[in-house]
Amino acid sequence: MVNLNPRIIVAIDKDSSNSADRLVRKLSPDLCRLKVGLELFSVCGPNIVQKFQRMGYSVFVDLKIHDIPNTCYRTVRALTNLGVWMISVHVSGGREMLLAASEAVEGIECSPLIVGISVLTSLEAKSLNEIGIDRAISEHVNKLSFLASNCNIDGIVCAPSEILIVRKKLGIKFKIVTPGIRPTNNLGDDQKRISSAQSAIKDGSDYIVIGRPITDSKYPKKVLEDLSESIYSVC
Ligand code: C5P
Repeated sequence: MVNLNPRIIVAIDKDSSNSADRLVRKLSPDLCRLKVGLELFSVCGPNIVQKFQRMGYSVFVDLKIHDIPNTCYRTVRALTNLGVWMISVHVSGGREMLLAASEAVEGIECSPLIVGISVLTSLEAKSLNEIGIDRAISEHVNKLSFLASNCNIDGIVCAPSEILIVRKKLGIKFKIVTPGIRPTNNLGDDQKRISSAQSAIKDGSDYIVIGRPITDSKYPKKVLEDLSESIYSVC
């Protein structure tokens, strides 16, 4: 059966066009969308995005934009012209930058979703304190989500532990994208605030981002199929 709304986004964190291509050919657009992050975009640029789109995938270009409003506007415009499905900007870039991002896609047919990065899932309370933020992580994510929603940003990227609180405060239309997903038998690598795919979807996440558990596996398609199966019952 064709899945029209795959909820799994596979992070193609690879350092060459060939290795990315080899991996993506083992996956399927019926089961997942793809995320092109800083590493792959730095190596291959827009060509790889267009190639994945031609293969039938929706592409999330995760450049985590954090710049002055004008640069943000122009970058979002450039990515929109590529026909991408989702774009990320840092909410900590502030109100004007967020408004510039949403203005860049205003009035465009099939415009991409813009999601705001809240607090990276690799960070803990101690790391936030070191950059001058003393409130609890969940409180900070909450504050950033309100700001993003207020600036017409479509959703937020947050850790599994913050899904319930954001969903409750911002309702069902606000998209929640969740990295930090690990199969229960997998270690967290450098991710600190993690959970299983099933529990993230059950808590109300719209899309889950999964990298190494799939991309480092000997059998990526099998891991992807098992993960899809595990979330199917709670979708
Ligand atoms: O390999 P792993 O599953 O940890 O990959 C996670 C992906 O999600 C990486 O590509 C990383 O850039 C991204 N990400 C994240 N935390 C965020 C936003 C994105 O880990 N808050």
